[in-house]
This record gives sequence, C-alpha cells and structure tokens, in this order.
Amino acid sequence: MLLTNHVLSGALIGALARRPASAFAAGVASHFVLDAVPHWGDWGSIRRFLQVAVPDGLISLGAMGTIAALAPAERRPAVLAGMIGAVLPDIDKPAKLWFGRSPWPRVVDEFHRRIQPEASGRAHIELLAAAAFGAAALAALRQPPGPAARRAPRLL
Ligand SMILES: [Zn+2]
Repeated sequence: MLLTNHVLSGALIGALARRPASAFAAGVASHFVLDAVPHWGDWGSIRRFLQVAVPDGLISLGAMGTIAALAPAERRPAVLAGMIGAVLPDIDKPAKLWFGRSPWPRVVDEFHRRIQPEASGRAHIELLAAAAFGAAALAALRQPPGPAARRAPRLL
C-alpha cells in the first residue's frame, strides 16, 4: 500500500488512541493489515516503482507535517506516534535503495513481502483509501478529546 495511506491511517489511529505507546503499536499493526488488503503495486521495474514511490514519499512527508500541525497540541504526540508506527515497517524500501540492506530481520522482510496482494491498475483503491483515511482522521481530530486526553498534563 502507498506510504501516504499508511500515514493517513496512522493519523486516524493516533487521533483515536490518544496515548502515544498504544498509537505506535496499533500503527505498526495497521501497516501489515493494510498491506494484506489487495492494493496497487507489481511495478515490473525499479524505474516504475520509483516513479510512484518518490512522489508518494514526498506527499507522505507533507501529510505528516500538515496533520501534526493541525492536531491539537495535547493530541499531537499520539498522532505522531500513530503515523510513525504506521510507516516504520516500510523503512526497508529506502534502506535497500540507499544502503543495500533492510534494517529488519530476514523473517520480517519475508513476511512483509509475502502478505502483499499487489497488482497494477489498482490506483483507484489507493485514492479511495486516502480519501477515507484522510477524512476520518480529520473528523476524529475535530472531536473533543476523550477522558484520557483530558487528564493529560498541559504545558500552559
Ligand atoms: Zn509495507
């Protein structure tokens, strides 16, 4: 699944979880769940992969910064933790490209590779997922914080 969708789903998780540790753990778990859903991929060449992955990576960074800026201060740590957890498993892609190896154990890489039902011609699935996750994350961030967030210490 595109990194942008991992960012947006991680933001939704962070907006709902409100505690950074649980948001991070749920974000990591969400990565593998989403990668197991049929999605766009099967690029055929490294060139074609990069034509999608580079813009996707830049959009992901922009989305993370924008969502972090939009999140209320008391909820920002959980939202950031959710997004970071959700994108972390895919750090193997730039690591392989730049350093020639994955930071994860081989068993993790093998599992990550095997669960992917990828096919070309599924860009619409990614766009629908981005719209749904983005709208849900923004809606969740607009809700008043729950009891756990209200008890959190405030800086001001
Ligand atoms: Zn992945």
